Formats: sequence, structure tokens, C-alpha cells
Amino acid sequence: MELNSDIIIIGAGPAGLAAANRASEHGLDTVLFEKQYEIGYPVRTSGGSYIADMKEFRIPSKFYNPIRKVIFGTFKSNIEFCYKKDTACILDTRSIYQYLANRAAEKGCNIQVGVDAKDIMFDGSNVTGVKVVRAGREVTARSKIVIDCSGFSAISARKFKMLGKGPARFGSGVEYEAYVEHVDKRTAMLFVGSEVAPTGYVWVFPLSDHKVRIGVGVTKPDSKLSPLPLLDNLIAKRPAILEDLGRITPTEMHSGVIPVEPVINKVTTNGLILVGDAACQANPVVGEGIRPALRFGFLAADVSAKAIEHSNMSLLQVYEKESAKAAKHNKIGLMLQRNMANYSDKEWEKSIHKLGKLSEKDFLNLMKADFSNKNLLKILAKSPSFFIKQALK
Ligand SMILES: Cc1cc2nc3c(=O)[nH]c(=O)nc-3n(C[C@H](O)[C@H](O)[C@H](O)COP(=O)(O)OP(=O)(O)OC[C@H]3O[C@@H](n4cnc5c(N)ncnc54)[C@H](O)[C@@H]3O)c2cc1C
Repeated sequence: MELNSDIIIIGAGPAGLAAANRASEHGLDTVLFEKQYEIGYPVRTSGGSYIADMKEFRIPSKFYNPIRKVIFGTFKSNIEFCYKKDTACILDTRSIYQYLANRAAEKGCNIQVGVDAKDIMFDGSNVTGVKVVRAGREVTARSKIVIDCSGFSAISARKFKMLGKGPARFGSGVEYEAYVEHVDKRTAMLFVGSEVAPTGYVWVFPLSDHKVRIGVGVTKPDSKLSPLPLLDNLIAKRPAILEDLGRITPTEMHSGVIPVEPVINKVTTNGLILVGDAACQANPVVGEGIRPALRFGFLAADVSAKAIEHSNMSLLQVYEKESAKAAKHNKIGLMLQRNMANYSDKEWEKSIHKLGKLSEKDFLNLMKADFSNKNLLKILAKSPSFFIKQALK
């Protein structure tokens, strides 16, 4: 069986859904393949993000819980950043992904769930389509451009050796979505330190007055530990700062992995674009990948529309350049992340004290891995040890 279209998108995570939306808006004949049977399920993320970006991407506010205060630190000492207005947010990702899928379908996108993209077709100079399998039957799907948004599977990067053997360093996380007796729904919490999550962190992200996502992430291979026992241990031995939550009753368990590697050097070839985790575009400081996946998904479709209109694949270079700009920020973020992964509890105590001197805005830029020269200088001035140890190495 054969299928022909302008654009094929592999994967209906945030990257693929953004690309599908924009490609269909451009009037391109677009096919989106998702190997799972449901879009937005299983949940593999805790959904921490930022309101300004969600507004820019036209995500309705009913799909996220706004956050005004962030608590960061160890269980013994921590700092608080209070924002004058709601700044961060916790996304209801399942609803957002479903919403984006419907928005794309309305514009004519051909969405096919339960379809596994097995191989990228390449004729020696151009990518020509994808071989997919649905219910055991192989289908040859041809297109002018393939946008690979397959996340950690990164199927085309692995095929074309852009990633070598695949990411050696990755974050592995498990969280419970849980009923709790009380939570301040405007406060998100992030904890670090050896008793919490060696080489990683714990997050407590509220969704409503009685619902939180509480999870543990560890960086592999820096830590051999699995996040689930750490999470269960945390809930069993509830530290004082989490006492207020009262009874914690999990109603869902989510888990997943995220590359903690530099952005891939070459994210396009003739007829192929890599987006999101498939291109290692996530912010490595806190493993935040939804915002970059959406941003680069939209851009990939814009650039593809131009390349198809002018029958000129060299126009994909625009995407390459934008990804390279983000790569610079990610490189610094990665350095920081590697540094933090090796922090002792003593070093954390010292650093938390210094980080407490950052303004609300600077702390936000640090979390977002927004390392423009100006921002970087401010962070270095207040908390140099964060970077210097790694730089010396
Ligand atoms: C535990 C955890 C917590 C996280 N918390 C946050 C957070 O708070 N905030 C944040 O911004 N980010 C967070 N992230 C990271 C974020 O989830 C990812 O960076 C983001 O989802 C990447 O989007 P993506 O579209 O590139 O890939 P994905 O979301 O992984 O989507 C890829 C899609 O491709 C599909 N697919 C894969 N292979 C194939 C194939 N062969 N054929 C067809 N379909 C295929 C998959 O089924 C999936 O639907 C977290 C990650 C983890 C693991």
C-alpha cells in the first residue's frame, strides 16, 4: 500500500503536534503518524512550563494551572521566588495534546494513530518518505519532507548516525499524579540533594487544590539508582516541608526519559528535519522540553512550507540556524547540569544561599536556560561556583 503527501510527521508529542498544526495551516497535505493508540497517553512528562509561551502558542488557559511562587532547595534549606503575576504553569498535557490534534485535524491534517514508523526512506541524496507498519501491514508513505518528532526514539538521527549510538546521558523520571489533602496550587517546588535524588531532583507541581504531580528524576549514567524507589521512599518518609500535603494518594503513575545531551549538530538534511527530543533540543537545566518542542515544531513547519513552495530544500537552513542558536544556550545549560549532578550536599547548601541572591527574573532565566550574555553575567556575578568548577574541568 502507498500514501503520498507534502509532509510526513513522525510522533504526536508536542513537537509533532505543533508541526502538524502549522503545516496544515499552511495548506500543506500533512500526515501525522503516532505509534500509540491515543494522543497524549501515556503521559511521559510533568508539564512544567511558562504562561507567556503558552499564550504565544495559543494554548487556552483552561489547560494549565498558573504558578506564582517557586520554592527551590534541599529539604533542610530552601529559597523562595515570588512573582508579581502568574509566570510559570503546570500543563494538563493530555488535554493540550488532544486539543492540538483536533486543531490540526480541523485544518485537514491526516492523523493516523497506532502507526509505527519503522524506517526513513533515502534515495542517496534525498529523504523520500517513511515505511510504517499498522496492524502488521507495511505501508510506504512518500512525502516531500519528513519531520521527525519521534522523541527519545530519535529514529532518523540514529539511522543517519547524527546521534552516534544514541544519547549516553539521559534523565529518567517517575512521578505520581496524586490526590493530596492540601496544596497551595500557585506554588511549585523543586528539591535537590543526596537524600532527595542523587544527580537529579524532586518536583512537586500542583494542578489544583487537591492534585499534585510529585516525582523524582535522576541522570543516567551519573546515577545507577532508579527513580521509583526514591519516590516511594520520599512519600513514605515525608520530610517536614511536605507535611502540609497530608495524605498522598497516587491516582496515576507517569514515567519517561529525556536526552541530556548537546543539541544535535545537524538537524536537517535534504528533505528531513529533526525536532524536539529527537534533536536533543530540551533545556538540560531542569529537563524542560515541551516549550522548545512546540517552538521548533512550529518553525519546522514554517520553513518546510517555504522550501516546498520554492522547491528549494536549501531553505531548511533557516531552521538549522535557529536550532544552532538554541544549541549555544543548551551547551551552557548542559555544563551547569553536569556540574549540579556532581554537587555534594555541602555544595548545594552553599549554592542555594548564593542563588537566593538572584532576582526573581534572573532565577527564571536560569531555570529556562536563557543564557544571553547579559543574563549569564548576572548569574555568574551572584553565583559563580555554579559554572566555574565545570569550566575548570
Ligand atoms: C519524567 C519526565 C518529566 C518531564 N517534565 C517536564 C516538564 O515538567 N516540563 C517540560 O517542559 N518538559 C518535561 N519533560 C520533557 C518533555 O516531556 C519532553 O522534552 C517533550 O515531551 C519532548 O517532546 P517531543 O514531541 O520531542 O517528544 P515526545 O513527547 O517524546 O513525543 C514523541 C512522540 O513520538 C511517538 N513515536 C516515537 N517513535 C515513534 C515511531 N517509530 N512511530 C510513530 N510515533 C512514534 C511517541 O509515541 C510520542 O508520542 C519531562 C520528561 C520526563 C521524562
